Amino acid sequence: MGKIIDGRSLAQKLNSRLGREVKKFPKAWPKPTLAVVLVGNHEASEVYVRQKAKACSAVGIKSVVRLLPSSTSEKKLLRLIDRLNRSKHINGILVQLPLPKQIDPKKVIGHISPDKDVDGFHPNNMGRLFGSNDPNPLLPCTPLGIMALLNSTRVKISGKHAVVVGRSHIVGRPIAELLLQADATVTICHSRTKNLKKHIHHGDIVVAAVGKPHMVKGRWLKKGAIAIDVGISRLGNKRLVGDIDFKTAKKRCSFITPVPGGVGPMTIAMLLANTIKAYKIQKGI
Ligand code: NDP
Repeated sequence: MGKIIDGRSLAQKLNSRLGREVKKFPKAWPKPTLAVVLVGNHEASEVYVRQKAKACSAVGIKSVVRLLPSSTSEKKLLRLIDRLNRSKHINGILVQLPLPKQIDPKKVIGHISPDKDVDGFHPNNMGRLFGSNDPNPLLPCTPLGIMALLNSTRVKISGKHAVVVGRSHIVGRPIAELLLQADATVTICHSRTKNLKKHIHHGDIVVAAVGKPHMVKGRWLKKGAIAIDVGISRLGNKRLVGDIDFKTAKKRCSFITPVPGGVGPMTIAMLLANTIKAYKIQKGI
């Protein structure tokens, strides 16, 4: 039976550490501040924004939520980002995705100042992840959270075969790169991959980031594999489930993350860590 990697408790530990760090900043300095921009009333996004604001306040980060109607033009959103980029009081900017159809998310992400890009999606920060030797880039939160979850198992990643299912710019590709940097041998699978089961069966580490409930069956996994489930889907009965069939997978894995309570809390914790990192970069400390 696989051990559950408890993302909630790991996130709590990280949050406590971050809270202690915030308390050590000089009293005269303004609090680290995160601006969260939400366009429209996407139900899931509203929940995520509330969770992020709550998490911020728990560690002493101030959050400022800007709610804009779904009819907002791209120009208006870009103007708001300009103001947030210029503001001395704002250290991090997060634009909640998805955005309404009339707004190009790439343009919006590219407009955020790279030093305030706490999601780590700006092309400069992506470039730093993939190309440069920058020792301190702002990296995407979910992949950072996954690496922390893997490291918490104390299993050596070097030399392991990692299979990443999903090749999005926010999860699949950056986690594949981080695993590669940790000296894993990495296979990336996607919707056109032939014989997905066979690839997954070779994985010592399997990261599923697809968004299809219970797509990965327990019997597909190699015995003793570590299974990291990024997917979040809501079933008809409102229950949240991941991409991995938890019940059957738990019997084959050495470690497995649950949904909810695995990758999700660590993604938020890494957002807080990135906000503090951005604050320190801007303060030159
Ligand atoms: P995307 O939709 O951007 O990417 C999904 C990926 O899955 C694509 O690369 C797609 O392939 C691939 N895919 C689709 N169908 C299959 C299939 N049948 N077999 C193999 N691969 C397939 O999603 P995201 O990366 O943004 O998110 C993935 C999931 O993770 C979602 O459920 C999302 O809600 C969740 N998520 C959770 C987070 C958390 O904090 N827990 C954070 C971010 C996301 P192709 O490229 O060929 O289309």
